[in-house]
Amino acid sequence: MYFTTSKSDRDRLFACNRESALVWNHCLSLSRQHYVDNGKWITKSELQKVTKGKFHLHSQSIQAVCHKYLFARDTAHQAIQKGRKTARYPYRNKNHFNTKWAKDGFKIHANEKIELSMGIHDGKREKPIVLYTRNFPKGMIKEIELCYDYGLYLSIAFEDGKENQPYQKKQSVGVDLGEIHSLAAFAETGEAIIITGRKVRSIHRLRNKKVAEIQRLQSKCKKGSRQWKKYQKAKRYVLSKSEKQLQDALHKTTKQFVDWCVNQAVSNVHIGNPEGVQRKTRQKKRATRKQAQRLSNWSFGKVKKYLLYKLAMKGMRLHPIDESYTSQTCPVCKKRKKVSSRNYRCSCGYQEHRDTHGARNILAKSLYGEIYHLDVSTKQTYLRIA
Ligand SMILES: [Zn+2]
Repeated sequence: MYFTTSKSDRDRLFACNRESALVWNHCLSLSRQHYVDNGKWITKSELQKVTKGKFHLHSQSIQAVCHKYLFARDTAHQAIQKGRKTARYPYRNKNHFNTKWAKDGFKIHANEKIELSMGIHDGKREKPIVLYTRNFPKGMIKEIELCYDYGLYLSIAFEDGKENQPYQKKQSVGVDLGEIHSLAAFAETGEAIIITGRKVRSIHRLRNKKVAEIQRLQSKCKKGSRQWKKYQKAKRYVLSKSEKQLQDALHKTTKQFVDWCVNQAVSNVHIGNPEGVQRKTRQKKRATRKQAQRLSNWSFGKVKKYLLYKLAMKGMRLHPIDESYTSQTCPVCKKRKKVSSRNYRCSCGYQEHRDTHGARNILAKSLYGEIYHLDVSTKQTYLRIA
């Protein structure tokens, strides 16, 4: 969730995440010292006692960092007990750390104005940080977390009082995420939908163009110089703005898809995971091209996160599957070919829209464990989101 705020409060928000990082770093060194001195681990209450009032944050925000530290330590401990070789106790110092406000740390006003409390320092209550949002979720807000991803945003944990609908076995659907922000789905009945964002294509094109231009100018400056930093800031601004637009489009697309699933009486959604494939076929030349492409794609993780909770609310389940070869293989004769045009056409006579073809194969693979020709004709729908 994005928000607007004043310049000075924005600076204070950044300061919060720097301060939270200090709490985290303090947790690391305190725990280390405690272990050296006493030969045992610091407990939750001890850690809370020694961090209390030491930082420029609301007391619950400080506690939240301590909890995260203890959680990370205990998770690592369990993994080490199980013999996982890559597991490590938290050790890395941070420069930024998400700040959390629990129920006593924030106030939400009727006009979607949010006040984040900074607690009491030297006996005086500090002026809260004021933010304005739009489309704030209705219901009981449990927690607000300040995160950063090309720009600051809020992650909100809430209870809407509505129970998720119960799961009931109905039909399955396969989902293929297209290269440029599209989502294609194919259901067992042959109903198929392709959802694309009209604007998204131009957002990402414009962004790449602008970023390329800034990078070109930046490459002429000395790294770290004042002018270089100026370009760096401009680049961050472009990325942050387009990131918000893309996020918004992602919300709309997943919402439309879930609505379609409800209408089609879907219970199980099988989604192809393109990132699993990328990892497998990593080659140097390809990797750089993929990196460039990644800018243009929604990350699978993000799409999954959105779908997971939206589907769960309607009693549907999400299953990611390895989408290897689903886009290349003809389901009828099993020949493989690369698709370059809008349609997949095989010499055996099979043909299908490229994205629907992918979704069809993903559905078959998840139902039968292999790419198989589903004997239904396609009833194609296109949906464009403004
Ligand atoms: Zn064929």
